[in-house]
Amino acid sequence: MHHFRYEQDELYCEKVPLRKLADQVGTPSYVYSHATLKHHFTVFDNAFSGVPHLTCFAMKASSNLAILNLFGSLGGGVDIVSGGELYRARRAGIPADRIVYSGVGKTVQEIDYALKENILMFNIESDLELEAINTRAGELGIRARIALRVNPDVDPKTHPYISTGLKKNKFGIDIEGALRSYQRARELEHVEIMGVDCHIGSQLTDISPFVDALRRLRVLIERLQDMGIAVHYLDLGGGLGIVYDQESPPHPHEYADAILKELEGLSCTLIFEPGRVIVGNAGLLLTRVLYTKKSASKDFVIVDAGMNDLVRPSLYGSYHQILPVVKSDRDMQVVDVVGPICESGDFLARERGLPMVLPGDSLAVMSAGAYGFTMSSNYNSRPRASEVLVRDDQYFVIRKRETHEDLVRGEWIPDLT
Ligand SMILES: *Cc1c(COP(=O)(O)O)cnc(C)c1O
Repeated sequence: MHHFRYEQDELYCEKVPLRKLADQVGTPSYVYSHATLKHHFTVFDNAFSGVPHLTCFAMKASSNLAILNLFGSLGGGVDIVSGGELYRARRAGIPADRIVYSGVGKTVQEIDYALKENILMFNIESDLELEAINTRAGELGIRARIALRVNPDVDPKTHPYISTGLKKNKFGIDIEGALRSYQRARELEHVEIMGVDCHIGSQLTDISPFVDALRRLRVLIERLQDMGIAVHYLDLGGGLGIVYDQESPPHPHEYADAILKELEGLSCTLIFEPGRVIVGNAGLLLTRVLYTKKSASKDFVIVDAGMNDLVRPSLYGSYHQILPVVKSDRDMQVVDVVGPICESGDFLARERGLPMVLPGDSLAVMSAGAYGFTMSSNYNSRPRASEVLVRDDQYFVIRKRETHEDLVRGEWIPDLT
């Protein structure tokens, strides 16, 4: 299903021409297709319709209230990694019993907040965190529902910065350690063991690391059952990759088939934490050309979106397709598409073939729906972009462009005289 496509020579998001959004909302702006968001969520969720499961969208990929609210209305929950994300999730109307909480560095304040909200479960990443959560739950006179995040030591064969399931990564507890930690958890008065969790990395384009991880988890689950510890939930994390360029990631149905096959005979509720696969290709970053510039060795296209708006190319060397919002029959040229930020690492594309562009032309940076806006910053005191949700022939500004006033909010000049 293609909700971003050309009609005549104009690029549309559903039935709204992007040229109109560039004119009316301005640039840079993130633009999301409602139909695509809904379709991706539904396809993923339906792939597991035959078994008890909960799809907890990993909201660090995209955390706008309107988007979370949509997934909530489709029966989804969220995977959170901070108190701020818990706040957003609740503001978006996500029921607490559909929230799981991951992350290696939960603070006392965050733990208390999540306990008081009565979330579904904490995915615990270390022994000290287990003790801390037990202590806080005791203090509040409740029992915390927990799973331990197991690090299965499999290589997800993805970018090292987004690999999480290797021994050398900071995430989770290794399988041997996990048995001891479960033993310990069982002795603790204020925690209730709900299950097992793992998440091995992001942008996986091959199914085998998922299967390898699952096989190792199954061994663990059987040993837990032998110890008399029931596993009600098995949280398999996220990580399914998407097409940015030439990748060929498994379809959610292939992923589901492979997983369900490995799970035969096991009766627990599955939890998934997909992020990128749901939102990545449901959003783009709309930007405008400010200048073109030739140097001795390169041609540059300078646009009004920079690494503060979309950091993935600078951070991971990621590829994002760039399309003209209005097609032209101008000659192709090879350019670096760069932003206005004062860093040489500020680029959206390098050595890219693009039809010649002129100042004022708009460009669409595709596949920017995941880890786009959520990773954006105010570097160089640039107000963060607006976010727009398109549904059919309507559009909604779901986050206003920041103002200069927003930039200094909370700052204070003390009287130092
Ligand atoms: C980031 C993250 C996810 C989502 O990863 P995707 O690759 O976007 O699907 C899921 N679970 C945890 C614990 C994460 O940190």
